[in-house]
Amino acid sequence: MTELRTLKVALLGCGNVGAQVARILIEDADTLAARAGAKLQLSGIAVRNVNAKRDVDLPQELFTTDAETLVKDADLVIELMGGIEPARTLILSALRNGACVVTGNKALLAQDGPTLHEEADKAGVQLSYEAAVAGAIPILRPIRDSLAGDRITRVLGIVNGTTNFILDQMDTTGAQFADALAEAQRLGYAEADPTADVEGHDAAAKAAILASLSFHTRFALENVHCEGISSVTAADIAAAKDAGFVIKLLAIAEKLEDSDGGKGVSVRVHPTLLPREHPLAAVHGAFNAVFIEAENAGELMFYGQGAGGAPTASAVLGDLVSAARSLVLGGAGRMETTTGHVPALPIDAAVTSYYIGLDVADQPGVLARIAQLFAEHGVSIEIMRQTIHRDAESNVESAELRIVTHRAPEAALAATVEAVKGLDVINSVTSVLRVEGV
Ligand code: NAP
Repeated sequence: MTELRTLKVALLGCGNVGAQVARILIEDADTLAARAGAKLQLSGIAVRNVNAKRDVDLPQELFTTDAETLVKDADLVIELMGGIEPARTLILSALRNGACVVTGNKALLAQDGPTLHEEADKAGVQLSYEAAVAGAIPILRPIRDSLAGDRITRVLGIVNGTTNFILDQMDTTGAQFADALAEAQRLGYAEADPTADVEGHDAAAKAAILASLSFHTRFALENVHCEGISSVTAADIAAAKDAGFVIKLLAIAEKLEDSDGGKGVSVRVHPTLLPREHPLAAVHGAFNAVFIEAENAGELMFYGQGAGGAPTASAVLGDLVSAARSLVLGGAGRMETTTGHVPALPIDAAVTSYYIGLDVADQPGVLARIAQLFAEHGVSIEIMRQTIHRDAESNVESAELRIVTHRAPEAALAATVEAVKGLDVINSVTSVLRVEGV
């Protein structure tokens, strides 16, 4: 039997994910070598503090603070430090040296993906990042490779476990947002500063990556319309539940055609009502799932753990074995195509349904006036339900109206809501949420 070649693997970062990657590289060295066709030798681990206590017992001599030197000597570089710098400079330096790079850094990819891809293409090496979207779930390679012969039309993803946990808590217990967030923080699902998760920034970075691969066009963070969940109230959740919906924070990327036949991709993140029977409605707790619609494959759903050290390490090692194989067999070549050239559409051009909750005066003719206003804006109503309330003290009756529209351009829907607000019979607009899957 011929002796296997040895490939040097530099690991940058030894936190939640990096420590698990190091553990698996050492514990499963023989299996990984058999699968990669080369021995994967962990040549060093770059960290900030070499003496910090780690989750996993690892040989102390592997640790260094000199990431630059470690990268220079590596065949494969795994970047799990996070953040923009020095991760960006180190990845570029690794690629220029001809090393394949595996990263989980969605923030960096969403901000400066094109530069990294260009460098990888120039050097003819792989840049892989399965871990950057939905942790353990194999989603990027299926989109890039398995669906390369199909046309994806729409991607709907629950790609942030923290917000899914919070919304699920609110749905199952009736809790307010702040209480559900506090529970998520207590259980370690949310960070002390939860902004990136609850305001949708983390999901937006993943939406840009999903859209880029799905539509063969590089989309950046600035192309993603982003709304978080901090303004979702227990009343919104209860009303949605009552109407047969669940609220999820979705990353959406879909191809749309305007009335002139022009095509574009709408990439957005926002709280979304889904019918309870939609497959994504059954994704509970901190789990992630991505639902894909493709012209020939039809509907596909990918489900699993979207974060956590070991689950994310699984995705990193899958990329590493694939990159090692490319070095052993040669011809890594270009991994992704960017031949789509479809423009990113502004949020106004998105086509969606709306759920609108209204508190209205209980007077004859109110429903007709509201329905007419919708019709004037070209928005047709799919469901309109009315519940009457009587104030115990004043004895005044008011009506709660819940409207679900058919799909219509966002601009028309937004204009309708503005016009409705101006009607004298409207006490208040209690909620406006987008709806998918109807
Ligand atoms: P983490 O626990 O914060 O660990 C970061 C590691 O990087 C630490 O070991 C830290 O060193 C090291 N580091 C940071 N800045 C450095 C610098 N300037 N020089 C040298 N070392 C540096 O992060 P993580 O949760 O493992 O996440 C790593 C990456 O994976 C991020 O891009 C994240 O977005 C992505 N990701 C994470 C998850 C997850 O579940 N955690 C899921 C998907 C993707 P010290 O230990 O010495 O401080």
